Amino acid sequence: MKPFLPQDDPNQEKRKDYLHRQQKAYQFDYESLSPLALLKNVPAVENFSSKYIGERILATSELPANMLAADSRTFFDPLDELQDYEDFFTRLPLPAVAKIYQTDRSFAEQRLSGANPMVLRLLDASDPRTQILADISNLHPLFDLRRELQKNNIYIADYTGTDEHYRAPALVGGGTYEKGRKYLPKPLAFFAWRWTGVRDLGEMTPIAIQLDPNPGSHVYTPLDPPVDWLFAKLCVQVADANHHEMSSHLGRTHLVMEPIAIVTARQLAQNHPLSLLLKPHFRFMLINNELARSSLIAPGGPVDELLGGTLAETMELSREACSTWSLDRFALPAELKNRGMDDPNQLPHYPYRDDGLLLWDAIETFASGYLKYFYPTDEAIVQDVELQTWAQELASETGGKVKGMPSKIDTVEQLIAIVTTVIFTCGPQHSAVNFPQYEYMAFAANMPLAAYRDIPKITASGTLEVITPKDILRLLPPYKRAADQLKIMFILAAYRYDRLGYYDKSFRELYHMSFDEVFAATPIQFLVRQFQQNLNIAEQKIDANNQKRVIPYFSLKPSLVINSISI
Ligand code: MN
Repeated sequence: MKPFLPQDDPNQEKRKDYLHRQQKAYQFDYESLSPLALLKNVPAVENFSSKYIGERILATSELPANMLAADSRTFFDPLDELQDYEDFFTRLPLPAVAKIYQTDRSFAEQRLSGANPMVLRLLDASDPRTQILADISNLHPLFDLRRELQKNNIYIADYTGTDEHYRAPALVGGGTYEKGRKYLPKPLAFFAWRWTGVRDLGEMTPIAIQLDPNPGSHVYTPLDPPVDWLFAKLCVQVADANHHEMSSHLGRTHLVMEPIAIVTARQLAQNHPLSLLLKPHFRFMLINNELARSSLIAPGGPVDELLGGTLAETMELSREACSTWSLDRFALPAELKNRGMDDPNQLPHYPYRDDGLLLWDAIETFASGYLKYFYPTDEAIVQDVELQTWAQELASETGGKVKGMPSKIDTVEQLIAIVTTVIFTCGPQHSAVNFPQYEYMAFAANMPLAAYRDIPKITASGTLEVITPKDILRLLPPYKRAADQLKIMFILAAYRYDRLGYYDKSFRELYHMSFDEVFAATPIQFLVRQFQQNLNIAEQKIDANNQKRVIPYFSLKPSLVINSISI
């Protein structure tokens, strides 16, 4: 196989036949998660390879013994004390977060480098939500809210469903389980960036949490009794865990990338240079998503069992996350800017941003070199009928319905921007939210997937319900739920098929040729090695960054990032 643009290919018939067959095999389904554009039937060529299956089974082989040993200990339901949540880890390593999760530092740091560093945003001084802070009297006496707002030091994590960035449907119900109800809190959490006065040093700290979104409700602060404050923080963790799985993970990686893989299969010939570039980044995604639909998010499946809402409410979070996603606004630099988190002078510590941009730059450089080689002029872009049909179908309401996708591509720069976002989303972005599921979410007391006790209510006498240490345990998942949470989080984060920028494994499986054989006598062989070297330099910088971080951030180390949404 030799890469050719359609206008240069001597074998036009073969191309047409191939695309004809592909368009029959890959068809859209707009029903199952309406209005999302998903794949109707997954063709056999998309199945997991025997290598993938074998390696993945091996990677999860410790789990049964771990759970058996955990079960054989005598547990009461609900668990007796918080410490007991560590006992689930009999063979598997106890995540480091288990030793620090009750601290404000760990709580704040998880907004910047945890499993879901996608929610926190700068709070504008004119934002009506600042009133909640202005109304409370027990903020620290030395804290000057007006000044801090003016200096852009106040941040917010809003899970009420009304934030423009996370316009989730109002969840009123909450799910059930065999012993009663589950709850999904809708908190607002406020944070302050505190400069230490030494160069660029400082720390993010939580300053207030409102659990009940109704106006005038109680606002918790670190000056409250420790049990109340911990309860409030755990409610934020529950909301964040639901946001993580349904919005950041399933919605804004797995599901938003699916139509792009479908259209690529339908409209680009196998030897089209753009297909060759993107295919490793779509490897196993379609079958993986199909598996998620038939088991993970099926009635009675883990999402139904473990997350806060009813299955219908929970799925609504994903649907909403997809429909508010767009290719242009979720390019990493634009997305960071949109949340006011892009300026290192304003916020010097944001590991997801700092490490992410290193990978973004390496991907952009590679995509740029690759695409400029195949499209030396903008004419070559305009004359590429497959590429233009690809763009048109991606943008179309009767095709991929990809928001922010232009229906016509005029310049190579435009294509570089699209491709960089697609590769970043399939690679680093998915890995950044997928693999920390073990470190931050397998230990259920840190990020419970549901609350099992409601938020404190105003009693008949007009006072707020008193929270006791027992209430913390009532809030957290009971034994079986916590065990199942550990299981699913381990399974979803235990295996890496390949590594970002290394394409041989999927090329040999897809084309029975090495990457270098396919790109023989082209500078692409050289460009891919440059890409790998740039990723190694990024890795060294991230290692150096981690030396200066109180809690290291591993999620975007290029050696731990995979090419595709294959798990
Ligand atoms: Mn995943």
